Amino acid sequence: MLKGKTALVTGSTSGIGLGIAKALAQQGASIVLNGFGDVEGPRAEVAKLGVKVGYHGADMSKPAEIEAMMKYAAAEFGRVDILVNNAGIQHVAPVEDFPPEKWDAIIAINLSSAFHASRLAIPAMKAAGWGRIINVASVHGLVASAQKSAYVAAKHGLVGLTKVTALELATTGVTCNAICPGWVLTPLVQKQVDAKAEAMNLSNEEAKKLLLAEKEPSLQFTTPEELGGLAVFFCSPAANNTRGVAWNMDGGWAAQ
Ligand code: NAD
Repeated sequence: MLKGKTALVTGSTSGIGLGIAKALAQQGASIVLNGFGDVEGPRAEVAKLGVKVGYHGADMSKPAEIEAMMKYAAAEFGRVDILVNNAGIQHVAPVEDFPPEKWDAIIAINLSSAFHASRLAIPAMKAAGWGRIINVASVHGLVASAQKSAYVAAKHGLVGLTKVTALELATTGVTCNAICPGWVLTPLVQKQVDAKAEAMNLSNEEAKKLLLAEKEPSLQFTTPEELGGLAVFFCSPAANNTRGVAWNMDGGWAAQ
């Protein structure tokens, strides 16, 4: 379905981003990976699916590096047809103890990066008459949790940016939608499991169960594969007129 298209997925060396990159590759899209840490492992996992794979290590908190990444994608792949704004970090602390530099980093990486990548991707998508922008927000783009001020603010902002982008592009072939996961067991969430296990003297399994029981009626983690399926839907012809939605995959978290 996506043969001939190129998808750039930010923060795709791990977790949800890698799951989405693989799901889009399974549909035939060429993939540009981005993110830190091990690059060769994720690159090989995607290449195994038989598509062209590139990588750019832009730090998504730095607009100049985002611009360099978009230039790299255009030069090596011709155009970015699908932009998945997924890179994100988390920090947990009450407002009065929240380190200001962590606030700035979370807003830059989880919110401003999506603005910069989108503003640079939109002109070519409009010119081509087709494009997909998928913002990986969170259930925290719809509801709040204590101790996650910067994250909740960034994700609510990202849902807002999704709606505005969708409206501005409503008469074009370019859509913009958001994905709002609940708990997904990636390195980002494992850190929170570890913190809970340590604070409450629990085993890893007990801490995971407690995390789910506190928030997710389904008592299940959503998987990167399931989120990849939603990204594929947003790229499918069935979603041509799906614009500005924030679709939660959260085990019923936000329905409570
Ligand atoms: P993860 O830690 O497994 O992956 C994060 C990715 O972002 C990695 O590839 C990392 O290298 C990259 N990254 C971090 N900082 C970066 C930077 N400055 N520049 C470029 N890349 C950077 O986390 P994840 O759980 O897969 O999270 C991915 C997205 O999903 C995030 O936006 C997160 O907020 C969102 N999300 C996660 C969950 C969850 O439960 N895991 C739930 C809702 C939303």
